[in-house]
Amino acid sequence: MIANPEPEEVLRWAYENFNRVAIVASFQAESSVIIDIASRVRPDLSVLTLDTGRLPQETHDMIDRVRERYRIEVQVVHPDAEEVRQVVSQHGINLFYNSPDLRRLCCDVRKSRPLDGALRGYDAWVTGVRREQSATRAETPIFTVDEQHHGIAKIAPLATWSKGQVWDYIRANHLPYHALYDQGYTSIGCAPCTRATSAGEDERAGRWWWEQNELKECGIHYSPDGRPRPFNGSRDQ
Ligand code: SF4
Repeated sequence: MIANPEPEEVLRWAYENFNRVAIVASFQAESSVIIDIASRVRPDLSVLTLDTGRLPQETHDMIDRVRERYRIEVQVVHPDAEEVRQVVSQHGINLFYNSPDLRRLCCDVRKSRPLDGALRGYDAWVTGVRREQSATRAETPIFTVDEQHHGIAKIAPLATWSKGQVWDYIRANHLPYHALYDQGYTSIGCAPCTRATSAGEDERAGRWWWEQNELKECGIHYSPDGRPRPFNGSRDQ
């Protein structure tokens, strides 16, 4: 691949070099751009998304809008019902407010572990992560071997793009976008863990806003030990 390739070149290269490529969409702004570009490169693209069970209604609405516009199937991946039952019964349904460890346990069960299972059917996955989004993402490579997910390829076509470039693309191409952006949100995840941001705040300041000095990451893109954790329904405090 050439240095600083355009997202379309990256996606074309991915589809030429890997048989099974999954676009993992959160249906934030970056997903709108990637799906639009990928649909021109590969009309029968595979899109999968994680339905944690705590998403805002607007995310479900966005999934349907994308399905209808591009006439594609969106594979909706759910957490294991028994794992959710165990965690909720031990720690309560809103455990994430009680400690960073319990928040990470919830993200493990509702996000990281379901993604880990879903990606077993793929050779590469595409993410909308951008370097500019946070310090933890500043070194994001456009392509890497993802040891956290069975050694498949991980591709970030928008790694070098700015927020402005993303929104310029959305507006220029009249793409659908998540409705919560119009309510002051700048990053969107689960409903109880996301709020709108104020002028001057970091893009991801509305995620897990009650936590101080913790990484604003769920574990999909960043894991302290680099590996999915075994599940036993608890987390040392
Ligand atoms: S973002 Fe919140 S509700 Fe969603 S999985 Fe993580 S802790 Fe749980």
